[in-house]
Formats: sequence, structure tokens, C-alpha cells
Amino acid sequence: MTRCRTFRFRLHPTFRQTESLARQLDYRRELYNAALEERRGAWAWERRSVSYVDQCRTLTGLVDVRPEVVASGVTLCRGTLKRLDRAFAGFYRRVKRGGTPGYPRFKSAQRFNSLEWEDRSGWKVKESDRRLYLLGIGEVKTNYHRALAGMPKAITVKREGTRWWLSVRCVDVPAQPLEPTGRDVGVDLGVTNVVALSNGELVVGEHFGSHARARLTEAQRSLATKQPGSNRRRRQVESVAQLHRRVTQQRHNAAHQLSRRLVNDYDLIVLEKLVITNMVRAPRARPDPERPEAFLVNGAAAKAGLNRSIHDAGSGNLTSLLSYKAESAGRIVVTVDPRHTSQRCAECGHVEAGNRVTQAVFRCLVCGHEDHADVNAARNILRAGRALLALASDGRI
Ligand SMILES: [Zn+2]
Repeated sequence: MTRCRTFRFRLHPTFRQTESLARQLDYRRELYNAALEERRGAWAWERRSVSYVDQCRTLTGLVDVRPEVVASGVTLCRGTLKRLDRAFAGFYRRVKRGGTPGYPRFKSAQRFNSLEWEDRSGWKVKESDRRLYLLGIGEVKTNYHRALAGMPKAITVKREGTRWWLSVRCVDVPAQPLEPTGRDVGVDLGVTNVVALSNGELVVGEHFGSHARARLTEAQRSLATKQPGSNRRRRQVESVAQLHRRVTQQRHNAAHQLSRRLVNDYDLIVLEKLVITNMVRAPRARPDPERPEAFLVNGAAAKAGLNRSIHDAGSGNLTSLLSYKAESAGRIVVTVDPRHTSQRCAECGHVEAGNRVTQAVFRCLVCGHEDHADVNAARNILRAGRALLALASDGRI
């Protein structure tokens, strides 16, 4: 099996390179929008669908008409077409599932910030020179703060505000197995405390961006008071975007650190099988039968709060980070059915909703065992995971 991994580095382009990169973004955006137009038109007028391969074929003709667009290599153009193709694939997937997704949209300059090189041509990672070579742009200074592993296969260059980032996707990344520790852990991805471990440890939410979010709320409030079209408003928009990026980054870092620590410390990590997409979906609007224009209360506001907590905890992200780190380290990650884990007593096994006194306190109505509710849940999760693993090793599942 090929193990993949993506490495992310900061890029430091010179003034001139920044201009070239920005110009490339303009060309790519133009190509993206033109390719989208082609797909829309073909369908609207001829009921004909245009594929990624069809669109790649037209690139050769583009060399004569718009040589500057193709000057930095066909790979880069293919990357853009691939991106459009992914947007369509996602659209069709959601339609098939019965949703009502938005049709892929034309991109404005603010919404088009990345350049994708889909195969190995047109760029070269030069680790020892601390440079990234890009065809048509030159050698861009890069801080490779960690060594790449495996074989670099594709890259993405992304603009975030005034900063530029490089992502290198590597394949054939060798595994790095860790020594067994003889310890197991159950993990409860709760909403209030973010993460509770079966050993009693609580990893609290502040690490996951709630502090930065307070500043974000403040910045957004200030944005609302600025005159549309003014320079102050434009600057405020940029600082709101910067804060958003910081929240995301902090959450990502926290998830990385926690998953690394769990993988280092435990041989077996048991998690709840969370169906994130169901939990974060907005509740359906409920029309009021009495008044055709109005809607009944559907709990959307309460759910929005819960959704934000789930997103903030980054549990989906944590689960996927854990899985790939565990795989490389030779650790086992097991997911178990979350039913009853918060109502079951971890001491005597008694299940009753009344056991859970408050969001935070668990007190068993039969044996009187008392614990933090999420830690109690984490212990149940660990037990369920061990049982599952025992069944699997007996060959019964
Ligand atoms: Zn009990």
C-alpha cells in the first residue's frame, strides 16, 4: 500500500516572484472560469457533458491563442482543470445523495488563491538549497523546517493574505513503527470539554481556538461599522480574514499535538464512531401551517452553538490525524458505537439516563460511582474497544 503524506512549508518569494505568482493566479482563474463556462454551455445548449480529459485536450490549442497562459507549463493548467473536475465530482456526489448542492461557481480574484501542479513536471523541490524551483517563476526561497519523506508527487502553492505556502504531497512514505508502551486509552470527543481520556485527563477547549474566536467576534463587530467601499473597511476585512486563518491554524496545531501525544503514549486508541456530517447539518426549516410566510422554531440557534463546538473541537480532523499517524507508527485505532457510552456506569455497567446528573457530572443510581461524565464515557469507550478487539482476534468478526 502506498502511504501518502502532505508537508506544508512557508514560501518567501521576492517582490518580482510575488508578482509572477499573482499573475499566474489570474491566468489560472481565467482558465478555471473559461473551463466552467464551457461545461455549463455544453450542457445548457447541447445536453453534452465535458470531461476533464476533453478539457485537457483543448490545452494544446491554447498555446497558439494565449501562449502566456500555457507558458508556465501544461501541468499547471491541468492542475486547474483537475480542480474544476473535483468541484463537479463533489457536486454530482451531493446530488446523488439527495442533497441540493450549489452548482460550481465562477471564481472571483478573492476566491482564487491556489496553484496546483498535478504531476512531477514544472517544479522541483530543492531541499538542500532551501529553494523551490517553479517553471516560469524561478527559484523561490522556502523554509523546509522538516525533512520530506517518501517521493514528492504533486505540489500546491497557496496565497493566504500576504503570505504564500507550499504543500508537497509525497507518496511511498516509509512507516516509522514505535516501541509498544503496554498502555491503552479511550477517548471521548465531547462537546464541552473537547477531549476526555479514560485515565481521567481532560484536554480543555481553550487550545482549540475559542480565545482567538473572541477576538474574531470583536473584529467582525467593528467591520459592521465601517463604510462600504472605504479603505478602513478593506483593511478590516483583511484583519478578519487573518483572524479566521489564525483560529483554523491553532485548531489544526492542537489536533496535531494531541494526536501525536496519543500515538506516542498508547498502543491502542479507542474512539467513538462519530457521524460528523449528521451532527453539523443545519436542522430543516419547519413551515408554520397557520401562516404560510412564517417558520416555526426548529432549534437552529441551539444547534448552531453545538455545531460550532463540534467544529471547534475539530473532532473530525483529530480522528483522521490519529488514523494516519497511528498507521505509520504501527498503533491500533478502533472506533466503537457511541450508544449508551454516556449513560453507562463504567464501574457496574448499569445504564440509565438519570446516571448523568449534569453535562459534567456522572453519578450511578445503583452503585453510587461518581466521575466526570466525559471521563466515565471515555472508560466505557475503552472497554468497548477492547471487547471489539478481542472478538476480532478470536476471528468472530
Ligand atoms: Zn454503577
